[in-house]
Amino acid sequence: MSVFIASLNSGSNGNCYYVGNSEEAVLIDAGIICRETEKRMGRLGLDMRRVKAIFISHEHTDHICGLAVLAKKYNLPVYITDNTRQHTALTDKHCVITFNANSQVSIGSLRVTAFSKYHDAADPHSFVVENNGITVGIFTDIGRACDNVIKHFKLCHAAFLEANYDEDMLLRGRYPWFLKNRIRGGNGHLSNTQSLELFTTHRPPFMSHLLLAHLSRDNNNPELVKELFSRHAGNTEIIVASRYEETAVYSIGNKFVQAPASRPQPVKVQQMQLSLF
Ligand SMILES: [Zn+2]
Ligand SMILES: [Zn+2]
Repeated sequence: MSVFIASLNSGSNGNCYYVGNSEEAVLIDAGIICRETEKRMGRLGLDMRRVKAIFISHEHTDHICGLAVLAKKYNLPVYITDNTRQHTALTDKHCVITFNANSQVSIGSLRVTAFSKYHDAADPHSFVVENNGITVGIFTDIGRACDNVIKHFKLCHAAFLEANYDEDMLLRGRYPWFLKNRIRGGNGHLSNTQSLELFTTHRPPFMSHLLLAHLSRDNNNPELVKELFSRHAGNTEIIVASRYEETAVYSIGNKFVQAPASRPQPVKVQQMQLSLF
């Protein structure tokens, strides 16, 4: 059974990633408002009724700003650590479930594993989602490619991987020094170079899709990132997730791609396949 993935938005203005099979799905983070989440999923033909849970990586606004409303409206359980929860607007009326790093949570046949990482937040985690032998990783907001990140990246058939900034652009840019150092200091974000090194050194041969994520508006350039990674892509498809719109839905496990209705479709989609969403 294939796994379907999409970025609904990616960047410091909001993060929300969809991972699911034909029966159930999870959202990783809820950093865009509820209405926009619904609109973008609708354009992709993704049914909100298939979403069974939201997993939260950390409390920064770009990962939780739509959480309280979305979880309440659809009565969705929110998987979050206790420390992270303290910094959110979740109330007793929400269904909150605490997770522990390295223990698996089953959502139907999806198995979600959280692991801790370096990032300047209360209790930051990243996730891999496994379904019937296909593994998808969501690796954003990582200060460095630590052993945990590497261990899980090596298992992924597809990955959302942060490529936050170009080192020269950050250095020469308008950000104050304290912020530049916060971003690149090992507890902030991965640069294009660090991200590329992780990819070229640890990419497994079966990785079919790499979705570059959480690009800085001021210190990066999507074309630069696409060009940089494409040179080293081999048989991995390189996609840059946008700060402004959803990606297509990618099917991991076969070659089928569902494009948003508003954009040209890279692959002709048959009606029978559409029913999968
Ligand atoms: Zn972020
Ligand atoms: Zn963050």
